[in-house]
Amino acid sequence: MKLILLFCYIAVSLSVPRGRRFDNEKLFHVTPKSDDEVKFIKHLDTTMKLDFWKPKYGHHVTPKTKVSFHADAQQSKLIEALLTQERIEYRIVFHDLQKAIENQFTKGSERKKGFSHYHDWNEIAMWAYSVSLNKPKLASIVQIGETYEGRPMLVLKIGNQKSAKKGVFIECGIHAREWISPAFCQCFVNEAIRTYGKDKAMTKLLDSLIFHVLPVFNIDGYVFTWTTDRLWRKNRAPTFIDKCFGTDLNRNFNISWNGIHFDDEPCSEAYAGNAPESAPETQAVTTYIRNNLSSLKAFISFHSFSQLLLYPYGYKDEEAPNHKKLDQIAKSAVKALHSLYNTSYTSGPTFSTIYPVCGSSVDWAYDEGIKYSFVFELPDEGDYGFMLPEHEIEQTCQETMLAMKQIASYLID
Ligand SMILES: [Zn+2]
Repeated sequence: MKLILLFCYIAVSLSVPRGRRFDNEKLFHVTPKSDDEVKFIKHLDTTMKLDFWKPKYGHHVTPKTKVSFHADAQQSKLIEALLTQERIEYRIVFHDLQKAIENQFTKGSERKKGFSHYHDWNEIAMWAYSVSLNKPKLASIVQIGETYEGRPMLVLKIGNQKSAKKGVFIECGIHAREWISPAFCQCFVNEAIRTYGKDKAMTKLLDSLIFHVLPVFNIDGYVFTWTTDRLWRKNRAPTFIDKCFGTDLNRNFNISWNGIHFDDEPCSEAYAGNAPESAPETQAVTTYIRNNLSSLKAFISFHSFSQLLLYPYGYKDEEAPNHKKLDQIAKSAVKALHSLYNTSYTSGPTFSTIYPVCGSSVDWAYDEGIKYSFVFELPDEGDYGFMLPEHEIEQTCQETMLAMKQIASYLID
């Protein structure tokens, strides 16, 4: 029986996302130098409906900021010709997106060397249960609700279950295709448990804080990225347009909900849903947070990619009341992160650092009263984008742990 289970485990671990293929599709990088170049990129977008990876939409493109977009094989030929004609510098990062998807997974003998791997939802759920079963003094598991397709949403509560009083809510995987995010949540839990009692700082943290870790927020979307479409972002609920599925859960919170044009189009990748908290996944999280509000001191959301540490506000161009403190914490976290492998992050309020975002979890949590609310945009800066290879997980995890410990240390002093 054990052998069969092991075989299934290996078979699942090595599976490459099936379904939609991306043969010969390309990922372009352009850094427009002038307003004219920006205008041209926006024009390309309106005529060709490009798939922007960064920024999220073509209308957020500004001069001197890196732009990355994906185009199919036919579009790509024309785009290359047009960019050359306009003398706009560009780089093709992936010549074949399908290969990049397959190359995320470490292969052959390298795979056995104990590197971290990406795990599908079944593996993550099994892992979550086994953590709580094996470490009852440091971990417990709660089901906080169900996804649209009926999957159980699991939160792992990590910390000294007797002494820890204050809480930190951590959510990963709200956007399905950002695989490094759930991988970080798993790594965070594993590292916290492994170093408790050995590492002084971690022991101190876990003796006073409970980390409520939601390893995958958007489980249905995450499953869909493994089975059908590696680039899926939203949840999988139907909308009022038959062919368009999914609500962007990070636009579905009741905070300046639907405040931005495009968020109200069901086919858009940032569709805010038909009402605030319309998605069962959002409802589960908001209910859980409201029920634990008196103890929750921090809220941290993990995304990819861009190497940013952001904090409120995203929905308005105003400084948050404790802006100075948030800025101080973010700067010290980014410094700690940088100390390990020299990875550079930029920090600042979402609105002024990237672009306006309405209905996001972090702004909602902040306005509910959780005054230390942050968003990590994990590596990289775009060379792999959403396709960060597995061999990068370990480094990303170790350096991000330093930032997390830095943020958490402010909560217990
Ligand atoms: Zn995201």
